[in-house]
Amino acid sequence: MSKRKEEEKRILAEMDEAMRELGGEIQEQTDEQPSAPSQKLYCRRCKTELTANGVCPVCGYRVYMPMDEQKRKKIRFIVATACIVGFLILFFLIK
Ligand SMILES: [Zn+2]
Repeated sequence: MSKRKEEEKRILAEMDEAMRELGGEIQEQTDEQPSAPSQKLYCRRCKTELTANGVCPVCGYRVYMPMDEQKRKKIRFIVATACIVGFLILFFLIK
């Protein structure tokens, strides 16, 4: 009985650690300048292809760069994996 409690504690600690890692990553993202996007963006004024930092080389128009989709997918994948692993361990312990 106490062994199961220990295991639960360990799982919770692991998930907590994963969440903290994610938090650090998100904070890092907000502090940084927007990174180069995977998809190409075009100027809304003159339709010229924008540079990596979202600035038009012709008219200087700046585009807001959202958080890139790859990073979001990565975070979702980590959270999902952590949850699945945790539940699987609990499932086998209860069984
Ligand atoms: Zn332009």
